[in-house]
Amino acid sequence: MFTKILIANRGEIACRVIKTARAMGIRTVAVYSDADAGARFVKLADEAYRLGPAPAAESYLKADLILDIAKQSGAQAVHPGYGFLSENEDFAAACEAAGIAFIGPPASAIAAMGSKSAAKALMETANVPLVPGYHGDNQDEQFLKTQADNMGYPVLIKASAGGGGKGMRIVERSDDFIAALASCQREARASFGDDKVLVEKYLTRPRHVEIQVFADSLGGCVYLFERDCSVQRRHQKVLEEAPAPHLPAATRQAMGEAAVAAARAVGYVGAGTVEFIMDVESGQFYFMEMNTRLQVEHPVTEMITGQDLVAWQLKVASGQPLPLQQHELAIHGHSIEARIYAEDPDKGFLPATGTLLHLVPPVENAHVRVDTGVLQGDTISPFYDPMIAKLIVWGETREAALQQLDAALAAYQVVGVTTNIRFLRRIAANPAFASGDVDTGLIARYHDSLLPAPVAPSSEQLALLAVGETLAAASSDDHAFGALQGWRLNGELTRRIGFTHGEQRCDVLLRYDGKGFVLTIGDDTFHASASLHGKRLAANLGGKQLQATLVRHGLQRVLFTGGERIAVDYLDPYAYEEAGVHGETHMKAPMPGRVVALLAEAGARVAKGEPLLILEAMKMEHTITAPADGKVLAFYFAAGEQVNDGDELVDFEAD
Ligand code: ADP
Ligand code: ADP
Ligand code: MG
Repeated sequence: MFTKILIANRGEIACRVIKTARAMGIRTVAVYSDADAGARFVKLADEAYRLGPAPAAESYLKADLILDIAKQSGAQAVHPGYGFLSENEDFAAACEAAGIAFIGPPASAIAAMGSKSAAKALMETANVPLVPGYHGDNQDEQFLKTQADNMGYPVLIKASAGGGGKGMRIVERSDDFIAALASCQREARASFGDDKVLVEKYLTRPRHVEIQVFADSLGGCVYLFERDCSVQRRHQKVLEEAPAPHLPAATRQAMGEAAVAAARAVGYVGAGTVEFIMDVESGQFYFMEMNTRLQVEHPVTEMITGQDLVAWQLKVASGQPLPLQQHELAIHGHSIEARIYAEDPDKGFLPATGTLLHLVPPVENAHVRVDTGVLQGDTISPFYDPMIAKLIVWGETREAALQQLDAALAAYQVVGVTTNIRFLRRIAANPAFASGDVDTGLIARYHDSLLPAPVAPSSEQLALLAVGETLAAASSDDHAFGALQGWRLNGELTRRIGFTHGEQRCDVLLRYDGKGFVLTIGDDTFHASASLHGKRLAANLGGKQLQATLVRHGLQRVLFTGGERIAVDYLDPYAYEEAGVHGETHMKAPMPGRVVALLAEAGARVAKGEPLLILEAMKMEHTITAPADGKVLAFYFAAGEQVNDGDELVDFEAD
């Protein structure tokens, strides 16, 4: 067994590999970019070396530099994780040539599976079932169109070198074929440097079912059952589970054996995934592609088999036989993984960036596992995949696993970057998903119920926010005369506390009667007592005892209570008196982006509607205009600077 390995990756997967290596007494070497100098994986590793600036091309993709560091640090093997160099045959070959074990398949197997077209040709000879289609060398547009016309629409054009859900076009009608082909080729050339395509029949209601395979260098090859990854958005996996719901045992076995045949056909060694697409109506399955690496969703397989797949990888790469044979493997219970992303489902899933001001994952136990590369205080940067964590749950049955999933998602607290947690909870609660009636169209089909309009805070939530605000102000030194005593000294009996939720304004009237609070919100009145310790708020609202976490940052307030998360902005009482188009206004960035240009001078007088600043986000320009006639007091950013969602851009004073 190796005594030291280098991990040529970052974030969550680097942490995951370090965990197993440490448990096996193997020392670890991390490599990092400037953006990751303070990252969790760098701290966890025994040694760490700088690669270069943040962009992957200048850091995590620098194969020669990584190999040099491996040699100099005395690592005997390199684990590539997933993404980056994991499916790069030249890197695998360079490791082999340098006498350093590549913890993955031989370069020849990566090459054989690297092209979807070539892989399909090979699978045909190994008698693995294929989706009807054309995957040959002839790339003439009329020829390809004739192929499509013959197989009947809809068809799917795929970049042969594609991956990560990119380089695919669905074509519904013959007339659209040529234009779709050109667009697919353009994207393929730009993203993968190769415009070769294949054309196949587009299944209208498919499931994505993939098989985990494992082979050793002594001729052994097994399958560790399937994962269902049908819940996808734009061909990218959102939820993954094992085993696949309602999959007949005979189909499982047939798929497993086909996957083993596929692996054997390319002389496979190590962990691999054979992806199949399955027709919901007929139950027929077809080979789609093989991913020659450990997969993002491998934990669900670990949870149902009780095996550590990274440990298997390390054993097999060091020449040992597979830890178990096929008849020794069994499925126990059910596991589901949810990918927690920094993205905003309400803004078209725009990736979100920023600092994780507050991050409390659910407590890990036999049923709940959290694989993550970040801690509270870390930043989600625009340079890499915006995944915050993978939440993996296990239960004796699928129903039990689903219940664990909902509870764990409800307990997940994130403030600072927008996440997809609420969206994931809605999928988990969707009746079709809950009954295991899954296919790749599920999210699109239930789009409206999965992405409803934001719900305004309830009276109970507003009451908690208001007492929390009052207690926080009373306990902070710079408000010695504020809150509690302050307004009693002034003889005010009632105080108005205001919040905004999106465009909506929410007011709470709060009175302190010497014993407790009396709160009025619309038609509701609560008698309340409460205490606040740090972020922990306990309150009794009219006899109902409630626990909450209140995170306050700037004017932002996020309340977690009863499994719900509600975010509002506190209306500063000074600004609040003059709210509207009067007085000083801090204009905030509506989304993360880059300041392109400042269109006025600080100190300048402007008329209502006059452009002040241009922000670019997701390749679109947004103009921030003057909300009233008035004066620009200050700009907080210069042209070219990056801003986060909610950052103050302009200080403006209306006449
Ligand atoms: P997987 O099933 O492992 O996610 P995919 O084929 O979907 O495989 O993706 C291939 C690899 O590309 C992933 O392992 C991951 O590292 C990377 N990847 C996937 N989605 C993204 C993304 N949104 N941004 C950057 N990299 C991604
Ligand atoms: P990638 O390399 O991007 O992962 P895949 O070939 O694995 O590309 O396909 C990604 C996803 O696209 C699948 O999980 C499935 O949802 C969809 N897909 C692929 N092929 C077909 C097909 N023939 N019919 C319908 N959907 C398909
Ligand atoms: Mg795929």
